[in-house]
Amino acid sequence: MVSIAIDGPAGAGKSTIAKRVAKELSYIYVDTGAMYRAMALYLHRNGIDAEDAQTIAGACGGAKISIEYRDGEQVVLLGGENVNPFLRTQEVSAMASRSSAVPEVRTRLVQLQQELAAAQNVVMDGRDIGTVVLPHAQVKIYLTASVGVRAKRRFLELQEKGESPVLSQIEAEIAERDHRDMTREVSPLKQADDAVLVDTSDMTIEEVSDRILSIVREKLS
Ligand code: C5P
Repeated sequence: MVSIAIDGPAGAGKSTIAKRVAKELSYIYVDTGAMYRAMALYLHRNGIDAEDAQTIAGACGGAKISIEYRDGEQVVLLGGENVNPFLRTQEVSAMASRSSAVPEVRTRLVQLQQELAAAQNVVMDGRDIGTVVLPHAQVKIYLTASVGVRAKRRFLELQEKGESPVLSQIEAEIAERDHRDMTREVSPLKQADDAVLVDTSDMTIEEVSDRILSIVREKLS
């Protein structure tokens, strides 16, 4: 099986790029952030405090998370329910950023991710794919962009949805999530030694996809 690992901070464009690359290569796209979000939704629905790591560790075993593909889209099931529509709220983002630092949460989800990659060719994105989940991935990319550029992208995305975001607030949230992802004890976000760094700050989506596809072709040839 071939595995392509794409890691990087929030808002670097990982999912957009990973989806395109997967489509181009006819591989399965695995969005691991969505799994952490589904776990966060489960914890949130059970009224668990995001700061209470001990209760999270005890409760996470009750979440029945699985993945299906419908019309090429990844669908995350929580106890059989399609929870995709509920994964992008502010509450879930905030909970996911905290609960993903709990070792028991990671152990369960990493196992699911490794099973998916053992069964098919994948493009998998996340924070620890090249370092922990798939250390033997044939291709590893570390995708990043400056905090300012990532915040601006998110700002425009929200504006397009008809919301009235505040740029400085988004920038502060992104910086806070980066800090939490990079400084946590288990599987912190960092570039794997053998990952190729791609800074997308001044690149268009097309340029980034072309660059990644050329790295993939070079590595697999
Ligand atoms: O990528 P996304 O923003 O959807 O991820 C949601 C949360 O899950 C992030 O805040 C990050 O802390 C966590 N995450 C993780 N490891 C991964 C993917 C996501 O810790 N492989």
